Amino acid sequence: KLYNLVQDLKGNIRVYCRVRPFMPGQPTSLSTVENIEEGTITIRVPSKYGKEGHKPFMFNKVFGPSATQEEVFSDMQPLVRSVLDGYNVCIFAYGQTGSGKTFTMSGPKELTEESLGVNYRALADLNNSHNGINVPEANLVPVSSRADVIQLMDVGQMNRAVSSTAMNDRSSRSHSCVTVHVQGRDLTSGAILHGSMHLVDLAGSERVDKSEVTGDRLKEAQHINKSLSALGDVISSLSQKNAHVPYRNSKLTQLLQDSLGGSAKTLMFVHVSPEAETVGETISTLKFAERVG
Ligand code: ADP
Ligand code: MG
Repeated sequence: KLYNLVQDLKGNIRVYCRVRPFMPGQPTSLSTVENIEEGTITIRVPSKYGKEGHKPFMFNKVFGPSATQEEVFSDMQPLVRSVLDGYNVCIFAYGQTGSGKTFTMSGPKELTEESLGVNYRALADLNNSHNGINVPEANLVPVSSRADVIQLMDVGQMNRAVSSTAMNDRSSRSHSCVTVHVQGRDLTSGAILHGSMHLVDLAGSERVDKSEVTGDRLKEAQHINKSLSALGDVISSLSQKNAHVPYRNSKLTQLLQDSLGGSAKTLMFVHVSPEAETVGETISTLKFAERVG
């Protein structure tokens, strides 16, 4: 409880950033990330994107390329555990395709004990009574072991509508959400507590080049960008404590309305790639994140 009190003092909206490492064999000399220090990430900005120079962005936490899955999760663990105290928690992974969102939330394609992502760790952490996981098909499936969770998540991954893009075959332009409902009893008062947690691996935030995609793909991309900016609008008006929160501008924010705002806790976890070629997307990701924080 004391832990959560400390969290409460930090406010209900937190913004984290993670930089993925270069892929094996890639030259690392051209990193777009100049420096990472405590909560600040400094980007090399080429003249094409405004004033040339070094731009710092500040967050509640910045994880560099060498951060392990365990380090990342242990920072989020108090937030995850607050579900047991009846809080509603949303964790969003945001960033362009290939920036490491799925790595953070699920892990790499070949999972090992060390590489398990937030989803598995959070569920395993909470999983010592009865609980249910809400997969996108809205089935409530009881789980009793980590093996059950892993099997269920594989089903979720397969259900996910995947369309390969020019950037990455494993990427998909869809949001993926794991929801956990927890019911507990306050041991002192006997009151029943309901908490929920949404773990959301958002669709890639990159803007699409209209000359490259047409028809349904273009419509899909415009739809995704609209839902991501609607999410940004909701979180930023919550963090500014605006009286009006524009939940109704997208299906995503409508679905999560009860879990965003009020006493709910939100973590926007933005991801950036280190490559200089994608610095434009990196800057727009970091600007998005600054706006919501
Ligand atoms: P996204 O979901 O944002 O499209 P992925 O999570 O699929 O991106 O990451 C792209 C690639 O980079 C994958 O091969 C993934 O395993 C790898 N990767 C991402 N983040 C890390 C990391 N922190 N450490 C090692 N490899 C990573
Ligand atoms: Mg992904």
